[in-house]
Amino acid sequence: MKYYSTNKNAPIASLEEAVVKGLAEDKGLFMPETIKLLPQSFYDNIENMSFQEIALQVADAFFGEDIPKDVLKHIVNETLNFDIPLVHVNDNIYSLELFHGPTLAFKDVGGRFMARLLGYFITKEGKNDVNVLVATSGDTGSAVANGFLDVEGINVYVLYPKGKVSEIQEKQFTTLGRNITAIEVDGTFDDCQSLVKSAFMDKELNEKLLLTSANSINVARFLPQAFYYFYAYAQLKKMGKANEVVICVPSGNFGNITAGLFAKKMGLPIKRFIAANNKNDIFYQYLQTGVYTPKSSIATIANAMDVGDPSNFARVIDLYNRSHEAITHDISGTTYSNEQIAETVKNTFTKTGYLLDPHGACGYRALQENLHPQENGIFLETAHPAKFLETIENIIEEKIEIPQKLREFMKGEKQSIDLSKDFNDFKSFLLSL
Ligand SMILES: *Cc1c(COP(=O)(O)O)cnc(C)c1O
Repeated sequence: MKYYSTNKNAPIASLEEAVVKGLAEDKGLFMPETIKLLPQSFYDNIENMSFQEIALQVADAFFGEDIPKDVLKHIVNETLNFDIPLVHVNDNIYSLELFHGPTLAFKDVGGRFMARLLGYFITKEGKNDVNVLVATSGDTGSAVANGFLDVEGINVYVLYPKGKVSEIQEKQFTTLGRNITAIEVDGTFDDCQSLVKSAFMDKELNEKLLLTSANSINVARFLPQAFYYFYAYAQLKKMGKANEVVICVPSGNFGNITAGLFAKKMGLPIKRFIAANNKNDIFYQYLQTGVYTPKSSIATIANAMDVGDPSNFARVIDLYNRSHEAITHDISGTTYSNEQIAETVKNTFTKTGYLLDPHGACGYRALQENLHPQENGIFLETAHPAKFLETIENIIEEKIEIPQKLREFMKGEKQSIDLSKDFNDFKSFLLSL
C-alpha cells in the first residue's frame, strides 16, 4: 500500500516511510491510497468470529501487502490480548468498553500496535536509536509509553501540558523510567502538539536524530483503531440488534472517529456517526457552518478531548473530498459543558448503575438526545472512570473502586523534565541527547 499526504505536496510513501516519518514533509497527514472493501462473506459471518480473527482480516486489508502474514498475525494477537466488550446500558444504547487494556483507555490498541510494527521495521533495517515523540492530552502518553516500554532501540519522549492531566494519568507515563522520558510543558496540549510537529519539520534535528511520532497522526496508531468498530458491530449482530447502527465517538483529535469512518468505507454497515465534543467545539461549529476555525483549547473535565485544532480533521475532509455536504450526511455533532457532562455521569449512575467517565458521558448523552427509536446506538467508552478519580468521585459523591492495574501505577515516583513551550528550548533539549 502506498500513502499520500493530505496536503498533496509530498512524495508518495511506503508503509514503512509513513510509520517512521509520522507526518509527511508538507505537514500533511498520510492516507492510504486505497481503502479496500471487505467481502460480503466476511460481514455475513462476522458474529461467529473472535476479535482477533476479525482484527486480522481488517489488518490484512491495510497492511497485508507490506507485512508478512505471520508477522501481522503475531502483532495483532499480541496487541489485542484483552477484550473490548459491548455492554448494554439503557434502552437501545450500548457501551463499547475500550478500557480493558493495560492503561485503561482506547489508545492502548493503537499504541501497542504501533510499538510492535515500528519494532518490526527497526529490527528489519538494523536501526537503533529511534526517538518517538508524542504529545498527550492525558491518555496517549501512557498507552504509547507502556506499548514501547523496553522495546530495544527506541526512546520515547512524552510531552504533556503541565497541570492539565489527572494525577493518575500523569503517573502512568512519568513513573516508568527506562526508555521513557516525560516532558512537562508549560502550556496547553496544542502547544505540545505543535512542538512535536515543529521538531519533525526542523532540518537540523532530522539530520542528527531519527525522529518519529506516535500521535494519531501516525497511520500505525490510527488505522488499528478500526478493528474494534468491526468487533462492536459483530457483538451487536450476535444480539440481533445490528440494524440501523449509529456510532457515537467522544472526540478530541478525531483519530478515533476517523478510523470508524474508514470502517464504514470498507463496507461496515454503520448508518451514521455522531462526534461528541466538550466545549472545544471546533468540529461541531464546522458541521454547522462549513467553516473550520481552530481556536486555543479550553480546559474541561473531559480533558483528553481538549483539542482546539484537531489534527485528523485533515483526514476527514480528504476522505470526503472536501465536501461539507457529504460529511454532514454521515456525521452530526454535539457539544457539552462541564455541567452537562457531570449531570450525565450522575444521572446515568443513579438511574442505571452504569458509571461513565467524563468522555464516555458526552457520547452517551449524544445518543440519548439524538437516537431515533428504531436505531441502535453504540458509544465508545474511551477510558475507565477511575482514571478521573477526583472528578468522578466529586460528581457522584461516592468513593469508587480503583482497578488493580491503576493502583500499580500510582505506587511509582514521578520523574519529568520541565520545559517552556518555546520550540528552541525543546530543540536544545533534543540536541543534547
Ligand atoms: C484521546 C481520548 C479521546 C479523544 O480521541 P481522539 O481520537 O483524539 O478524538 C477521548 N476520550 C479519551 C478518554 C481519550 O483518551
